[in-house]
Amino acid sequence: MYDKNNIFAKIIRGEIPTQKIYEDEQVLAMKDIAPAAPIHILVLPKAEYVSFHDFMAKANAEEIAHFYKVVQKICSDLNIDKDGYRVMCNIGKNGMQTIPHMHLHILAGKPLGRMG
Ligand code: 5GP
Repeated sequence: MYDKNNIFAKIIRGEIPTQKIYEDEQVLAMKDIAPAAPIHILVLPKAEYVSFHDFMAKANAEEIAHFYKVVQKICSDLNIDKDGYRVMCNIGKNGMQTIPHMHLHILAGKPLGRMG
């Protein structure tokens, strides 16, 4: 079940301010409030998806393609493609997802270290 009162739902509705770096009808991207790297952006579909898993199950192909095109465009606009970046997504309890609205993290601006 999607919780309409999660923080990202409130941000999408404009009830909580944020530092937006991209917005269109379907997608919002903003700076992470507690950056884990010099560049730390969160990219969210605006529609009500609990997680990546939920998004991939319910969104149509056009919506999914648009979302990932936007992720790539943001990285191009930030000029982080040359030095590289990390896209990651936490899903559910074991994935340590803390906010139950689908979002991808874009991390960049320094060598990020290996994961796992
Ligand atoms: P998760 O742990 O769910 O993958 O990622 C949630 C992210 O949202 C964290 O990196 C956290 O710092 C960020 N975050 C939490 N609350 C807010 C907020 O109110 N505004 C913004 N911009 N980011 C937030």
